[in-house]
Amino acid sequence: MILSAERRLLVRERAHYACEYCGVTETDSAGELTIDHHQPPRKGGTVDDLQNLVYCCVRCNQYKSDYWPIQPHDPPLWNPRSEPRTEHMLSLADGTLYPLSPCGTFTIRRLRLNRPPLVAYRLRAMRKREDARLLAELRQLMQLQEQLQQQHAHLLREQQALLEQQRDLLTTLLNLL
Ligand SMILES: [Zn+2]
Repeated sequence: MILSAERRLLVRERAHYACEYCGVTETDSAGELTIDHHQPPRKGGTVDDLQNLVYCCVRCNQYKSDYWPIQPHDPPLWNPRSEPRTEHMLSLADGTLYPLSPCGTFTIRRLRLNRPPLVAYRLRAMRKREDARLLAELRQLMQLQEQLQQQHAHLLREQQALLEQQRDLLTTLLNLL
């Protein structure tokens, strides 16, 4: 199956250039990712319907393979095109994903979404966000400090002017005596 360049670009843009299953970006994997059919065409899925196309890293694509629930007890796989991830998984502070539903449990297991390099990747991303937040706070504090210094300088100038007026007044008074 060959998708047109326009359709491929649309899928990439829609996914913000990141794997819709695990979140790894093109930049971090130094190349374009793959396009996955959420429901494989061999198992009844459409070939180029946008709703069935998921932007996907090579690893997630390999692990997912052509899984599709056929038997009544086959668990469903999370569809990032129709359900937010937060319905099925929770991001923990240690970089792992915690399942919130049977679909989440199955998807994490099938796609190995807690594979060690991915956990390390999430931890690094969290640290980056935290660093950016701290930097923004530091910038705000520095701006505040600069404003305070300016106010302080202004007050000093006013005080100096008052002292000069006081001195002039005293000089005038002394001259009158
Ligand atoms: Zn992925």
